[in-house]
Amino acid sequence: MDIKSNKQYHPQMHSAEHILNQTMVRMFGCGRSFSNHIEKKKSKCDYNFERALTEKEIEEININVNEVILQDLQVVEEFINREDAEEKFNLSKLPNDSGDKIRIMKIGDYDACPCSGLHVAYTKEIGRFNIYSTSFNDGVLRIRFKLFNE
Ligand SMILES: [Zn+2]
Repeated sequence: MDIKSNKQYHPQMHSAEHILNQTMVRMFGCGRSFSNHIEKKKSKCDYNFERALTEKEIEEININVNEVILQDLQVVEEFINREDAEEKFNLSKLPNDSGDKIRIMKIGDYDACPCSGLHVAYTKEIGRFNIYSTSFNDGVLRIRFKLFNE
């Protein structure tokens, strides 16, 4: 399987995206982001959603994501058979040529998700997570976030 390794790719931001997705699933029962734009300075994730978030909810997401980061969970890869992966995960975002063994990225016991990207080894490497704005339009919730290293 190809592992993305271009210089534009940002493992901290991308690992934060995994944690944000799982946090959204747990808090709201929505799906993981269906579209995202991950960059070094700021990133955004889009979710199918029913409404805008309240300030309180945004604060709770920040708190929950940072709690996971501060647990310094280990990020590990695991390869499982495609059949098993299809039962547990949505593989639609993986390239078709990803083969019979599917790479699952696990963030401690918090999250597991098929992915071919680059990640941090431990969550504390991500830094502090902060949502700087959100918007809601036509059933799409957009969350924009930054990371800070203090
Ligand atoms: Zn990933």
